[in-house]
Amino acid sequence: MKITDIEAIAVVWPPPEKHYWTALRPIGRVSELVVRVYTDEGLVGIGEAHGAGMPFPNVYRQNPDGTLRAEGASRVIVDLLKPLLMGEDPLNNERLWAKMFNLCHEIGWAGAGRGRSEILTAIAGVDIALWDIKGKAASLPVYKLLGGQRDTVPCYVTGGYYQDGKTLGDLVQECETYADLGYKAIKLKIGHVGVAEDVERVTAVRQALGPSIDLMLDVNEGYDVPTAIRAARLLEPLNIRWLEEPVHWYDRVEGLGQVARSTSIPIASGENASHRWDARDLINRGGIRVMQFDCTRNCGITEALKVAALCAMQNVRLAPHHDPQIHGHLVAGLPVGEILETFPAADRDPIWAELFSVRPEIKNGEMTLLDRPGWGIELDENTLRTRGVWA
Ligand SMILES: [Mg+2]
Repeated sequence: MKITDIEAIAVVWPPPEKHYWTALRPIGRVSELVVRVYTDEGLVGIGEAHGAGMPFPNVYRQNPDGTLRAEGASRVIVDLLKPLLMGEDPLNNERLWAKMFNLCHEIGWAGAGRGRSEILTAIAGVDIALWDIKGKAASLPVYKLLGGQRDTVPCYVTGGYYQDGKTLGDLVQECETYADLGYKAIKLKIGHVGVAEDVERVTAVRQALGPSIDLMLDVNEGYDVPTAIRAARLLEPLNIRWLEEPVHWYDRVEGLGQVARSTSIPIASGENASHRWDARDLINRGGIRVMQFDCTRNCGITEALKVAALCAMQNVRLAPHHDPQIHGHLVAGLPVGEILETFPAADRDPIWAELFSVRPEIKNGEMTLLDRPGWGIELDENTLRTRGVWA
């Protein structure tokens, strides 16, 4: 089998009407970079990459007249990766991954659409499409190729965002809605207000939902180390399943390790890890117990398998960030898989609501994987036409 063409489409939604805030950043436009790899045998692999960087993800830019153009990782795929992979056998994912990753030796982190971070995101999209082809060629879902540990995976909701005018009562009501949908684990954003106010927010949710619902807290890198340690100690009595990215971006390994040693709450991180070596540092020196490596942001499934092997060796659980339609296969396929992140609010996450004509269902807090080859998903062609920007 040979690769005959590669297509990159930045799918971009308008910003949500009500602004959502995490600790330090507003949620801007939501986007997803869709990749299609075509072959001479008629199999088409679907890949997805999730652009990093707010408010403009590294997959598109806005023109002065308000229209959008594909940039960053989208252009890297078409301009750099496509010429590298044309005519190659798509089943040789390890060899093709090394070919793509080696581009990073020539290129630094910054650069107009040619920086290393754009390349890692571009690799993610292409590698994920290659695994779709592998599954389709073998007539097996990817999670069965990876190990087939189970057919259903537990899911949690990410919610509790800060919004203008949102009261404590609104927050409690939001979380009760998730519990009513059958979710048994809910993650709340903290760090945008003072520690005392956040403790009050989390206490209100804990009291309303009772002890049987798991609560996780995501600081999105909002604290310095002393504040993170102080907050963790105050939150410990509330039975928190994990505390996520508590420390600012510039101290995300050593500082995180200090926090991990200071609290009984398990620490989670990894959505901003670029590759297996970042993941290794978070485990060995950051003291994390939950790894959230996002293979749609960086480097794809081929790299995520290395990260998963590290986790298995170090008794760290894998709970990947975002994109449940892809990461569900990792959590279902591998024994180290813990739980899957989902976003049921369609205005916060239109990807799940609008990008697919076929995708798995989430019911009672569990995703049942589709018994279809590859990722099992089909793209909604209408959404691609109306929201897509081709590179
Ligand atoms: Mg997070």
